Amino acid sequence: MSGGGEGRGDISVGIMGGTFDPIHYGHLVTAEAARCEFKLDVVVFVPSGRPPHKKGYEVSSPRDRYIMTSLAVATNPYFEVSSIEIEREGPSYTIDTVREFRAKYGEEARLFFITGADATLEILTWKDANELLRLCSFIAATRPGYGLSRIQAGVRELQSRSPNRVYTLEVPALAISSTDIRRRVREDRPIRYLLPESVENYIMKMGLYKKV
Ligand code: ATP
Ligand code: MG
Repeated sequence: MSGGGEGRGDISVGIMGGTFDPIHYGHLVTAEAARCEFKLDVVVFVPSGRPPHKKGYEVSSPRDRYIMTSLAVATNPYFEVSSIEIEREGPSYTIDTVREFRAKYGEEARLFFITGADATLEILTWKDANELLRLCSFIAATRPGYGLSRIQAGVRELQSRSPNRVYTLEVPALAISSTDIRRRVREDRPIRYLLPESVENYIMKMGLYKKV
């Protein structure tokens, strides 16, 4: 659960949204790079409830994704997990989440929504995108296939619509995706060193991703 920080006007909060099915080192490296580069006091991971953009596969239960995210962040004192999207009824929209963070941390807090560059390029399709751009800054992190040059035009478009800053961040390229991890589990190929051992153990214990 996210907690603490209320009433501290100058707090800087990173918000890392995702399906996290499962969470992996690409997510963790990105969040840590953002924390250090932007001097964030905390990065809150927010596993989505029911993703409104149908993903074409059966997403694991919010509970399993919340538990895996909690296991993954447990060793970093600056990382937290929030259950706000999984507790909310209906589809998850980032705008509602950011509004709740704004209410919780106050007008003076600096909110940074962190996305991988693939997600950055989709922000304008998200619900109430213009209001979202008013409510927080964005950090667009590079990801294999989405380097700085590829995302420049999209970032400039966001910047032109936002009174806040849209930053870019280069992170060490980790060609890891949840899709690939799920496929590996299904095909009995190794996932070790792609994600924290605690998360790997949970996947095996619960038999996740075995079904086609
Ligand atoms: P899937 O393959 O199921 O889409 P994913 O690996 O893309 O999973 P998500 O939960 O969709 O993970 O991603 C959450 C956020 O993390 C997104 O903003 C995404 O761009 C970012 N992200 C995911 N993997 C990486 C990575 N390897 N490097 C940088 N950012 C990443
Ligand atoms: Mg993704």
